[in-house]
Amino acid sequence: RFATLARQPDDPLLRIIGQHAADPRADKIDLGVGVFRDEEGRTPVMTAVKKAEAILLETQSSKSYLGPEGDIGFVRALGDLVIGDTVARDRIVGLQTPGGTGALRLTAELLARSGVARIWIGSPSWANHAPLFRQAGVEPALIPCYDVNSQRFDLDGFLAGMDGAAAGDAVLLHGCCHNPIGIDPDAAGWSAIADRIAADGLIPVVDLAYQGLGDGFAIDALGARTILKTVPEALLAYSCDKNFGLYRERTGALFAVSPDAETGTIVLSNLLALARANWSMPPDHGAAIVRIILGDEALAREWREELETMRQRLASLRAMLAAAGTIGTVDLAAVAGGKGMFATLPLTPTQVQWLRDAHAIYMAGSGRINIAGFNTAAVARFHAALHDMAAQ
Ligand code: PMP
Repeated sequence: RFATLARQPDDPLLRIIGQHAADPRADKIDLGVGVFRDEEGRTPVMTAVKKAEAILLETQSSKSYLGPEGDIGFVRALGDLVIGDTVARDRIVGLQTPGGTGALRLTAELLARSGVARIWIGSPSWANHAPLFRQAGVEPALIPCYDVNSQRFDLDGFLAGMDGAAAGDAVLLHGCCHNPIGIDPDAAGWSAIADRIAADGLIPVVDLAYQGLGDGFAIDALGARTILKTVPEALLAYSCDKNFGLYRERTGALFAVSPDAETGTIVLSNLLALARANWSMPPDHGAAIVRIILGDEALAREWREELETMRQRLASLRAMLAAAGTIGTVDLAAVAGGKGMFATLPLTPTQVQWLRDAHAIYMAGSGRINIAGFNTAAVARFHAALHDMAAQ
């Protein structure tokens, strides 16, 4: 049977990682893969995480199975932190998932089970969104709503695109720090989107994977909260992999808001059954770390401070990049208005390739750059490379 399979294309971003690793040029710059980096280019384990791991090593007395819901203490603490009392507690159910991706996968399967055939997604979006929903039987419908040239979110375009949606369709929203554009709706935009979703009877799916890396931890949840408090039914897919630096530990959660508590218990029973059939139970380590941090005032403070330092590093790199204004056809000033790890520059694939060949600057073919891949020297080199490109 295997002979019937068609070969799948390599992940283009993984290919870039390989090419970057093989490049012997000492001053090469990696703006490809989406992980946070410090000024030295490292992706360190956060100090609060190290301390929580030490506590876990001392205190964990068993590695026996938990259950498909994962670490309930983690889910509660995270739900309190992110959703708080935005929605009545008895309308919310949640479970731990393998990363934000696991949460999105369960979302997709729950939607499919609920008879939802379509999910509307602003385009461009994270490259995994469309295939993930499609594979679970929910067809993605793309709404072009980001203008790469001006690097603006086109709210009117997004709302107009939703004209095509029928009641019961789902809509995907990036909670903050849009990947790959870096531009989020403002407060008025979130309200308009929430009202529209409620009026049209759509089901919002909020993907919150970068809380704390945009305007600040509390502010970054405001869009998600605006949506959750406006609608009867919603899903919130959460990732701790960026804001706790846990990436490979695959730490996330899915929260579902239902019209009432009784519906919530039915939703949870479906989510648990789907989790059981997918991965049976999520990996424990990352969730245990987050639970320990959130349950310890001093550790929680330390984590928030480290996260804030990361956020400020991204903001100051954006300012440095933007200070050059427009170089050739590339408006870098717009980068200052973005949030989080990503921006997408108006570069053609040929220009992206040229920057790689001539200057050892690696980025996704779409022109997406990871802001955290820069340091002070790399920003100067990048500006010089763009000037060189403009002079060609
Ligand atoms: N949503 C978005 C927008 C992302 O960028 C990512 C990670 N790149 C995820 C979800 C998934 O996060 P995780 O690694 O926790 O699965």
